[in-house]
Amino acid sequence: MSPGTLLTVDDLRITFPTSQGPLYAVRGVSFALEQGETLAIVGESGCGKSASALSLTRLLPPTARVSGSIRFLGEDVLGMTDQELREIRGRQIAMVFQDPMSSLNPVRTIGVQMEEMLRVHLNMSRRQARARSVELLASVGIPSPARQMTVYPHQLSGGMRQRVMIAMALSCEPKVVVADEPTTALDVSIQAQILELLRRITEVSKTSLLMVSHDLSVVAGLADRIAVMYAGEIVESGPTTRVFDHPRHPYTLGLLACIPRLDGPRTETLRSIEGGLPDPLARKSGCPFAPRCAFVMERCLVDPPALEEKALAQVAACWADLSEVTVAEVAAPVAVSPSAASRANGHVLLSVADLKVHFPIGTAIPFRPRPVLRAVDGVSVDVPRGGTLGIVGESGCGKTTTGRAVLRLVEPTSGQIRFDGHDVAHIGPDELKALRPRMQMVFQDPYSSLNPRLTVADAIGEPLVVHHASQRGALRPRILELLEMVGLPARLASRFPHQLSGGQRQRVGIARALALRPSLIVADEPTSALDVSVRAQILNLMRRLQDEHHLTYVFISHDLSIVRHMSTKVAVMYLGKIVEIADRDTLYSNPQHPYTQALLAVVPVPDPQIERGRRRAPIRGDVPNPANPPRGCRFNTRCPHAFDRCFQEEPELADLGRGHRAACFLAKPEVAKDQLQ
Ligand code: SF4
Ligand code: SF4
Repeated sequence: MSPGTLLTVDDLRITFPTSQGPLYAVRGVSFALEQGETLAIVGESGCGKSASALSLTRLLPPTARVSGSIRFLGEDVLGMTDQELREIRGRQIAMVFQDPMSSLNPVRTIGVQMEEMLRVHLNMSRRQARARSVELLASVGIPSPARQMTVYPHQLSGGMRQRVMIAMALSCEPKVVVADEPTTALDVSIQAQILELLRRITEVSKTSLLMVSHDLSVVAGLADRIAVMYAGEIVESGPTTRVFDHPRHPYTLGLLACIPRLDGPRTETLRSIEGGLPDPLARKSGCPFAPRCAFVMERCLVDPPALEEKALAQVAACWADLSEVTVAEVAAPVAVSPSAASRANGHVLLSVADLKVHFPIGTAIPFRPRPVLRAVDGVSVDVPRGGTLGIVGESGCGKTTTGRAVLRLVEPTSGQIRFDGHDVAHIGPDELKALRPRMQMVFQDPYSSLNPRLTVADAIGEPLVVHHASQRGALRPRILELLEMVGLPARLASRFPHQLSGGQRQRVGIARALALRPSLIVADEPTSALDVSVRAQILNLMRRLQDEHHLTYVFISHDLSIVRHMSTKVAVMYLGKIVEIADRDTLYSNPQHPYTQALLAVVPVPDPQIERGRRRAPIRGDVPNPANPPRGCRFNTRCPHAFDRCFQEEPELADLGRGHRAACFLAKPEVAKDQLQ
């Protein structure tokens, strides 16, 4: 152990007893954390990264069986008494969790919780604790910190709550901060603010940071070293730049290759890691990545590889030699024929005009109009047949409500929705039912959108039965055909949703949506609940199905990289309105609205050099309350270019030429190519 080492973990093993036998969550993990260092542990769900992090301060459930060694400043954490543990928790090792709401006490104000922590751990007087709390809140960028001391957690936005958690974590000046997916629940603009804050804290106070994340892009600019976990083991670790530039494990290589990048050329098909994560209940035999590995050889099936040095300070657990393989080669575009999306004809399948969806809120007061939440407030857009309209925006922007209103899953307040000549907004229930088969939806969370009591076959067959769309005897063959279409083996037909992986469940959701041969599919964040390696499979599947079945998509996502990959036309929404819309290439190469520009500027890319080189100016502040949007331009509270007029007048969605429209007084018209010559 070097003198600067704060934490050493050696051969950590964590097992949870279950009714089906022991679940091997962590299978022999070793790492060390140096003073002032940021180590990122990256992996997909179930890889054991969070269990490893929680074990550092013994926060695992009592049923967990933990073996191996965890030493903090040379002291054996696993052998500590409760009193000794209390001494290091918070004071020496502080935790920041994904969901601050579950870590903060909902019935006590922020001030009371912060003061209590300081008084218990640092023996401060009430007055001292109060002054220090205000100081800490200010240091993490909370505006009017003295006032925020009096509010309850639910009165703060998600980003502000996470700042409070970070302030509390820093309150005792710990040596180590363990941050478990600290930005996963946040919007991209708020994520950038929190990443910038963590970077500043580690730089200024030299606090060591152990960051746990599923997202390689998020840790690229922050981590000094990175450890990639798969199936309970570290399969590769080393200096961040080396691991990103020359990964030596096929899993790391695959993860890096399957991320659609905003800073690279767009490809028709994404590289994906086929198959799913291994069963954590299974005992290990051979390399756990073998069933999904493109480099697998006979030896891998019987002989589990141990971590070995592949380059200076870089280790990987793999028998193959990847020294000559690069991410760029693996991620190189796959040759495919032009997709149907790129051949989208000019015929408009879906036309939305001035769509409004307002929800009444609060209580009605006599002689006063009832307050309303303007979830969607005047959206107009056309979607050509065979094309994909991407809708991006942060939570609360109205993108999901727009998608649902288009299908009449929520009732529009006013406006026109024309689908292939039908006036969807105003038709009666019978006509709507007749139209339903042609307009389907794929939901974000395939688990909650599938009935847990229906088998896969029943779930896929249900719409066919409800709409009498299949002759007796033809139902089963059609279900099997749909399973094949979405790449699922027929043997899964009798399984229940809980017996499937996340990716398989989403494939079932897509098969169900396809059952009635729709023309239009509204896909609401269809991959955001999926692991990175499975996400690319589903995106590729959706692209292939679009080609084969001439589908038109409305693709809703918060992820600008995925929207760029999938869409032919993109609309950016903010507080219920489209603030910019253009064809994909125009929007990404020449964004005119400051909100679009800012969103594109904060998307992290999986490249440590780029991430470290740029100092983001994150969009300031939070998204305002949609029930009470700002007067004038809705973006004026966060816009770096706002001027007087922006606070008086609301900008129209102005035509900038060639189908590009933006709602900003400063937007510049598209210059025609011939004018440039
Ligand atoms: S040991 Fe074999 S199966 Fe495992 S990652 Fe390396 S090449 Fe692939
Ligand atoms: S109109 Fe004004 S406040 Fe709104 S985006 Fe443009 S410059 Fe910013």
